[in-house]
Amino acid sequence: MGNTIGLNNKNRNNIKPLSMSNTLTAIFLEALVLSGSMTANTNREKELIIWLAQRDQEVVGIGTVGFDIDELPWTTESFIAEKQFLLKALDNAISGFEWSKLSYEPNNVMVIRRLDHFKKMIIEFEVNDVDEQQYLDWIENNDQDETPTIPRGYPKCENHNILLSCHGCLICNNEY
Ligand SMILES: [Zn+2]
Repeated sequence: MGNTIGLNNKNRNNIKPLSMSNTLTAIFLEALVLSGSMTANTNREKELIIWLAQRDQEVVGIGTVGFDIDELPWTTESFIAEKQFLLKALDNAISGFEWSKLSYEPNNVMVIRRLDHFKKMIIEFEVNDVDEQQYLDWIENNDQDETPTIPRGYPKCENHNILLSCHGCLICNNEY
């Protein structure tokens, strides 16, 4: 049935939700995680990409990875930097950065249109929309867990050079 990405539960008539087929969602996330992993420098930036990489349909279920932008692990304190980082990662993904690492030739026009739609949503998202509880819930018990939500030391896949989530590598998992 596909996946839908929304802004948040407030009514924002000017930005429609982003709905994608399951296959297109997978390509969209792989493109974003690829460019985001290359663009991320700070731990906070890496965490945002790891959260996206966790939306791994091969592991958590096909068609179950839709989300609202306010579910991302934003923090009020460094929101401006976080937003700027995501926009930069999106620009890199839109320009086709690192897509050669994928084992298939994505339909660039379709993916770029969705990345561009997502970018418009991020631009609309403001600090007042941040729900910091999302971040706190996400990192809860991370230090004690045997398989932490955020893998310790921010390891990357040796083949694809992308940040690993608790599910492993988003691209490796989809190659089988
Ligand atoms: Zn990999």
